[in-house]
Amino acid sequence: MGENMNGSFYLTLATFVYVSIIFVIFFKKEKIKSFENEIYSLLLVVTMSSLISEIILALGYSKNVLTMEILMRLFLIFCIIWCTILFIYLLSLLNKKYLKKIKSKHYLIYALLVTIGAFSLKIDYHYEANKLIYSDGPAIDFAMGISSILLFLMICFMVKNFQKIKKKKYYPIIGFIFLIIIAIIIQKNNPQYLLINFVIGITVSLMYHTIENPDVKMIKQLEVAKEQADKANHAKSEFLSSMSHEIRTPLNAIMGFSNGLLEEEINDAAKSDVKNIIMASENLLELVNGILDISKIEANKLEIIETPYNFKDMFDELVLLTKARLGDKPLDFKYSYDKNIPEYLYGDAIRLKQVIINLLTNAVKYTNSGYMMLNISGKIKEDKVKLVITVQDSGIGIKKENIDKLFSKFDRLGVEKETSVEGTGLGLAITKKLVELMHGNINVQSEYGSGSKFIIRVDQNILKGKELEDAKNKKPVQTEQIIDAHGKKVLVVDDNLLNIKVAERLLAKYNVTLECVMSGQECLNKVNEGKYDLILLDDMMPKMTGGETFIKLKEIEGFNTPVVILTANAITGMREKYLSDGFDDYLAKPIEQLELNRVIKKYLS
Ligand code: ADP
Repeated sequence: MGENMNGSFYLTLATFVYVSIIFVIFFKKEKIKSFENEIYSLLLVVTMSSLISEIILALGYSKNVLTMEILMRLFLIFCIIWCTILFIYLLSLLNKKYLKKIKSKHYLIYALLVTIGAFSLKIDYHYEANKLIYSDGPAIDFAMGISSILLFLMICFMVKNFQKIKKKKYYPIIGFIFLIIIAIIIQKNNPQYLLINFVIGITVSLMYHTIENPDVKMIKQLEVAKEQADKANHAKSEFLSSMSHEIRTPLNAIMGFSNGLLEEEINDAAKSDVKNIIMASENLLELVNGILDISKIEANKLEIIETPYNFKDMFDELVLLTKARLGDKPLDFKYSYDKNIPEYLYGDAIRLKQVIINLLTNAVKYTNSGYMMLNISGKIKEDKVKLVITVQDSGIGIKKENIDKLFSKFDRLGVEKETSVEGTGLGLAITKKLVELMHGNINVQSEYGSGSKFIIRVDQNILKGKELEDAKNKKPVQTEQIIDAHGKKVLVVDDNLLNIKVAERLLAKYNVTLECVMSGQECLNKVNEGKYDLILLDDMMPKMTGGETFIKLKEIEGFNTPVVILTANAITGMREKYLSDGFDDYLAKPIEQLELNRVIKKYLS
């Protein structure tokens, strides 16, 4: 090839180097399997082939006429294939259904026609001083013709789908069309300038930078997958939480009636059965609460709610509860706390208590003889106290290989043999998450066969100043005292007959005069007719919820009866929500005797 061609030849050479780099990077990288990536791989291969054939031709290495002919014709075929692939790519971007219409036999016929055309038609070579300057003739017109038709079709499709082509993915195609038109114009006047390879090289590199970057694609794919997984997880959490909620309502009835039965004159066998029913229900309730907690934690809906609390009272409660759990198990229960820990702290006492109870309950469950111990020490640092809570036992211990699994949900280790031990495998999973939510940590040391030691480290704020004074004035709430509220009128509102019966049974002890209705409207009617000393109002009712009923009650002139909301919606934070809505108090279902004692004492004594 002659001196005249040097300009375009060096351009081709530079394009070749650049495309080679992209080629290597693209094929070395891990890619996702997608139609676009396949098309792009093809484009790269064809571009490289076309560049190589042009370079060989230009260098004139092949003086052999036949080789030259073949290379020239291959080059024409590569150009057509390249345009065809770009056309298919455009169709796939615009609408995949376009492609469905093209069958494989169409591709076959097309390829056959192109090959026959490129190889059978004539090429005229123009030499100058024995060097090839340029070539033309029917074969080249044929290749140009087909490429022009494809170009024209591309423009038509893009005009037709004008709205879509604003996306970044279309930029390389628009760029290609623009550049190739310029190249054709230049080449028409100066046939010695071969610019086609330069244009297709630019196009593939543009494509690499805009859309065909495998990393970007992979991240996008991951994002989509993550989104889908999050959605599925969310749906699962929602389902679990609403199911748990539904289960609590009948459970409320079972526990209420069973407790009622225990107070009746029944024979010992029946009493033992009832106790078993209660134990099973408590276990079921624990499971349901656990699922509720876990689903809330996983949906990021569980909040740590910090309030002032009395540390000593909490400790005493923990001890009392553990003693009750121990029953007549022959275990030596040791407990102590650091007297340096201030009496009033600020933190999520409910959750802190929950995690310590979980550890204590496990110690009781998995220790058959020997001792168990609760120790809380505290180091004061500025306005915080760093609590170290240790729960230790001389129980069955945990195998080394199981320690890692300890905190994953539904994992119960080595309890296959211990079938008598009731449990769900949720306790420690929740404990760990709650401790982490409180910015603390939990550790375990255990020796299989000789015992375990769980240590929680968590900071709590020290209450000072006015807040401390306020907290001191608040008296502890729960009580075992059952007061006689003879003559007091209580209205229970619940749409579920079973729940009403449970409430009747629970309230009978206090000697109150009880009336029950089954809807918000009936409640309003009753209140309009006469005065009550206390209203227990269920929240989840059809037509008019407890919340809506409450708003209407407040509109009644002179209404000042305390209203306690009853709900199976026992998620943490609900109490605060209901209280801020204006309810006087809150009772979670299944109603606990101690809580009910407190409410009755507070409002009816
Ligand atoms: P659950 O006690 O309801 O089965 P947890 O999540 O509280 O669920 O505990 C998970 C498992 O860890 C238990 O099944 C038990 O195998 C083991 N484990 C927990 N605490 C102890 C302990 N103090 N001693 C021995 N094993 C324990």
